[in-house]
Amino acid sequence: MKANPNKPTRVNMVTLGCSKNTYDSEQLMGQLEANNLLVVHEETAQADDTVIINTCGFIDNAKEESINTILEFVEAKKQGQVQNVVVMGCLSERFQNELKQEITGVDAWYGTGQLDKIVTDLGVNYKHELLGERKLTTPSHYAYLKIAEGCDRPCSFCAIPIMRGKHVSKSIDQLVLEAKTLAKNGTTELILIAQDLTYYGLDLYKERALHKLLDALSLVEGIKWIRLQYAYPSKFPMEILPLIKERENICLYLDMPLQHISDNMLKAMRRGISKRRTIELLNSIRKEVPGIAIRTTMLVGHPGETEEDFNELVEFIKEQNFERLGVFTYSHEENTHSHTMIDDVPDEIKEERKSILMAVQRDISMDINAKMIGKELPVVIDRIEGDYFIGRTEFDSPEVDCEVLLKSDERNLRIGNYYNAKIIDAMEYDLFAQVV
Ligand code: SF4
Repeated sequence: MKANPNKPTRVNMVTLGCSKNTYDSEQLMGQLEANNLLVVHEETAQADDTVIINTCGFIDNAKEESINTILEFVEAKKQGQVQNVVVMGCLSERFQNELKQEITGVDAWYGTGQLDKIVTDLGVNYKHELLGERKLTTPSHYAYLKIAEGCDRPCSFCAIPIMRGKHVSKSIDQLVLEAKTLAKNGTTELILIAQDLTYYGLDLYKERALHKLLDALSLVEGIKWIRLQYAYPSKFPMEILPLIKERENICLYLDMPLQHISDNMLKAMRRGISKRRTIELLNSIRKEVPGIAIRTTMLVGHPGETEEDFNELVEFIKEQNFERLGVFTYSHEENTHSHTMIDDVPDEIKEERKSILMAVQRDISMDINAKMIGKELPVVIDRIEGDYFIGRTEFDSPEVDCEVLLKSDERNLRIGNYYNAKIIDAMEYDLFAQVV
């Protein structure tokens, strides 16, 4: 689409995929708003809308959702319900040529890392001085802070490096500035994200520097909770553990996808770590940071996964009692190393293994939550839903972990505020509490 002298009347941003996409959408929206454009997020379409779809290209389900969303808006455009359809993000980065041939009616296609081009093509200026200023799509009291882009890891099943490129860390100064800007605007919880959080600094400072970044961010005034997501187990930076333990405002929480535990699968997945080293690492983390909640993610059905491998994984989950766990089924992704293997685990077996693991975790989660009854701890209020205020403890990340329900007729609570609450009841993935 040629540079458009006629600025869009309204930009309607649609975000699919992960929190890194959310961050990119927020940055783009911040740029457009700073150019006095009217920008909304996933609002009902208007005939003069320029819809920008930030797509995900990670696995089959995500790709399908992205393609369906594009087709939906192309159809809406045909019906005169929107004006322009713009596609950006991972799916478009990965399959732009194929998509252009198969889908007509899209006004412009962009990949990842092209925010400046999108902004100028919409007829406005990219403002470099806007360092980290963005239009949040999350409730304003919490925000994702993307500390790096891309990934240098060779995980055999993963297409992310194809879509996001090599690992590039942002400087500590820039991230502290972003954090201060967010805190000034009322954000109290920072959720640190990257493809591989623990690789931070190796490119920029030639050393692992996550501990230095955590030290600096924990000194930013107004930040009450700092949360770590997407740590990588191999060559884990043990030097961050004392900071997690000691700093009041760093949550006793660590998200570290392990993907599997059998040596056969860890080798096939090219995870660069063994079962023995993984267990040693988990034991060290729990020893050095008592009370830490560990979230992990497992991948079932990878080529070559045997019944024995899977049973080993089930036993491991039972032994480890992870506080939080997610499970994905393997998706045979073009141009990944695993795609050179035979996708030999039938889909129904993949689904069956996922259900078995989730059933095991449900019991573990119920156990862990039941032990919380009677405890008092800080809870932040995220929203109101029906008769309840919905909040989280420091052991829960938004959208993926457990929630705390507080009766709305007991006390008038404010969204974004932290309250000391007593846990009075528990379910597998929810807790019930009263403010004390
Ligand atoms: S660490 Fe592995 S799974 Fe994660 S984004 Fe990088 S290559 Fe993909």
